Amino acid sequence: MNTEKLANTLIPEELPALEEFEKMYPERQLKKGAEVTRLAPSPTGFIHLGNLYSALADERIAHTTGGIFYLRIEDTDLKRKVDGAVESVIRSLRYFGLNFDEGAEIDSPLNAYGPYYQRQRAPIYRAYVKDLIKRGLAYPCFCTEEELNEVRAKQTENKEITGYYGKYAKCRNLTEEEIYRNLSEGKPFVIRLKSQGNTQNKITFRDRIKGEITVTENDQDVVILKSDGIPTYHFAHAIDDHFMRTTLVIRGEEWLSSLPIHLELFKVLGFKLPAYGHTCSLMKVDNGVKRKLSKRKDPELSLDYYRKAGYYPKAVVKYLMTILNSNFEEWERKNPSADISEFKFTIEKMGKSGALFDLDKLNDVSRNELATLTAEQTYDFLRTWTDEFGTDADRAHFADKDTLIKIINLICGIGGKKRRKDIVRAESAVRMLDYFFDDTFRPEYSYRFDAQTVNGILDSFAEVYDESDDNQTWFAKVKEVAANHGFAAEMSAYKANPENFRGSVSDVAEILRIAVTGMSNSPDLCTIMGILGKERTVARLKAGRMC
Ligand code: GLU
Repeated sequence: MNTEKLANTLIPEELPALEEFEKMYPERQLKKGAEVTRLAPSPTGFIHLGNLYSALADERIAHTTGGIFYLRIEDTDLKRKVDGAVESVIRSLRYFGLNFDEGAEIDSPLNAYGPYYQRQRAPIYRAYVKDLIKRGLAYPCFCTEEELNEVRAKQTENKEITGYYGKYAKCRNLTEEEIYRNLSEGKPFVIRLKSQGNTQNKITFRDRIKGEITVTENDQDVVILKSDGIPTYHFAHAIDDHFMRTTLVIRGEEWLSSLPIHLELFKVLGFKLPAYGHTCSLMKVDNGVKRKLSKRKDPELSLDYYRKAGYYPKAVVKYLMTILNSNFEEWERKNPSADISEFKFTIEKMGKSGALFDLDKLNDVSRNELATLTAEQTYDFLRTWTDEFGTDADRAHFADKDTLIKIINLICGIGGKKRRKDIVRAESAVRMLDYFFDDTFRPEYSYRFDAQTVNGILDSFAEVYDESDDNQTWFAKVKEVAANHGFAAEMSAYKANPENFRGSVSDVAEILRIAVTGMSNSPDLCTIMGILGKERTVARLKAGRMC
């Protein structure tokens, strides 16, 4: 077979000599031990927690070793492409404090290893495929979808390994004449690797996360170039990670089964193999059963979920760190005020199997993390969320920063005896502010006393309320109103003889609270009334009357 002629027929265009690519993308000049890592998502518009999990490891490893973390867009499958997806990846990761040093849509002087969109790299892939055809290591395959399905069905029936290999690799042994006849008939074709492997051979391999693993040599004649002239993931991975000079490929464990293919591709292409680390899947406990997080069932798999729900990014990162590196929590206990970037992240300490992701735990981390912020920082965080996801009313409320700071101080117990940890995320926190503003105040009055009692108490308090009263004077007035309406002014008196009273001062305070906030639980009522001011407080006391 004249493979030179075949290569020129199948890939007719003039392409640069292979050495040119080596010159174009030279070894990176980095210090010894520096790792080059990458995130290589498909532009599907769906960026998930697993991507962040890997990206965190990529970013930490690159930046703690003095290396590079870059973004490559794997857009070989046009069907899955969504507009704006690349911007969304960058924005999402930036939200979590992760920045790329180079790559697609990254404005960087380092961008010397692009293009970073695979579709724009066709000449490189095609030059190498052409070379493999010339060397008799790749061939055209004309099998139709139906033929391949038939073969698969037969293999399944015979309980054999499915795929295109050995006696099933029909086009592997086509004669020159048959090939040219198919071509002249205009039959579409793909290019397959002519595998040199043998499944009798085992390869021992050291995965940086999973440790030593043994895999079976590849014997599948996998497709390397699809009929549209664009490579498959396997081929693009080998070419790109070689020419972008990746030193460490961190990717999901679903790729582990394809590793033998990649080992063979790197070998036939004559490229040095990068190190690999296959991350374990993120799991959750659902009805007592541990299962993989699923795109269909679990909204929390999507990174957008965290932005929209207003999770504090640092809390998400911190929580992910605790599942990424087993020694992170201990380090944090010993270094409570240190920044996460000071933690020495090591790939070897990453979990080998099923990392459990627990939203309740994340909520706890988030609560604690938010409780370390000042009122000003809390305001900024909530305001940023409101600007993007809040309603017009929310944005108008945030324009009044002085009032917002007062409310935040109160809700968070800043300056009080004990810091409160009620804020878990921005979305729910912003809803906690609603009752401070008349346009979002939607009370549901649920008094435990009759109308006459409630109205009497509300009227009496409205008469004596003065916003300049300090907490003590304010409470003395509540007690006075209580006594005037047959309620015990002192809890001790009430406890000693409950039958002598209609209730206690705390019942009176509850009635006032329900009228003013619409809830029977709230932070300090005197402060809330102070924030509202006399006019609005009295208006609420009046509006809270029962008919
Ligand atoms: N495009 C692949 C994915 O999104 C990337 C896998 C890899 O990192 O190599 O799963």
